[in-house]
Amino acid sequence: MRILLLGGTGEARALAELLVAAGIDVVSSLAGRTADARLPAGEVRTGGFGGADGLAAWLRAHPVDAVIDATHPFAATMTAHAAAATRETAVPLLVLRRPGWTPGPHDNWHWADSPSAAADLLPTLGSRPFLTIGRQGLNAFAPTSATTGELGSAGRGLWMLARCVEAPEPRPAWCRLILARGPFAVADELVLLREHRIDVLVTKDSGGPATSAKLEAARQLRLPVVVIRRPPLPADLATVESVDQAVQWVIRPT
Ligand code: NAP
Repeated sequence: MRILLLGGTGEARALAELLVAAGIDVVSSLAGRTADARLPAGEVRTGGFGGADGLAAWLRAHPVDAVIDATHPFAATMTAHAAAATRETAVPLLVLRRPGWTPGPHDNWHWADSPSAAADLLPTLGSRPFLTIGRQGLNAFAPTSATTGELGSAGRGLWMLARCVEAPEPRPAWCRLILARGPFAVADELVLLREHRIDVLVTKDSGGPATSAKLEAARQLRLPVVVIRRPPLPADLATVESVDQAVQWVIRPT
């Protein structure tokens, strides 16, 4: 059996390891954006396919028994392309999506549909936000909009700390940037929040334990949290929430 595993997440690496150990032929696909990406077990290919048509062409040229989309919950374009290309080529598709986070009873969470909606909320919630949304949505928080030249919603005197795995290009001058890759510990997140006198946390609803310590730290410090909602999954996709369930799907009796 041969599987194309769309990766770039810890779950994808864990799944590749289990499938390879079970004797299954796995080719993991990485977007190739991270310079020193942690490589999964098995074969690895890197770089985009060239849209849904490119992925369909790849599937015709490299026959596989199934595709597993274990990309990040916010990698919506790749998931849409996987859905379209597997439909076109009649290859079974499974989506592995870890569950999102849920607030505790005393949490002060504010949901936003996009980074710019999150930026709009900020001035009412605090003046020293900590942005933990990766580098792709950061521009929504810039003091001036790159497209309209207008004052950015969050650019009105807010001091901002941003954390990314790799620095955005160009490197933003309007925020203090720290480069770090999870997993993070609650004690370290508490130190960071206190040291920078953070009064509001901004996060995507990534889910999973590797980056959830910031939510516990915000809880302990009673900070408001702006949570950016996940993009919806395309309809009618076979979906599981855990690596073990994905393994079961692969080795299911036919
Ligand atoms: P995206 O917006 O959904 O995808 C943009 C394009 O990148 C896709 O159209 C595809 O190019 C290429 N691509 C994405 N994932 C790929 C993969 N696994 N293998 C080959 N090509 C891929 O994706 P993204 O949000 O930029 O994420 C890129 C990668 O980083 C993904 O592997 C994702 O799992 C990982 N990641 C994303 C986030 C996040 O917050 N978005 C966080 C952590 C890790 P073509 O159209 O040319 O095929």
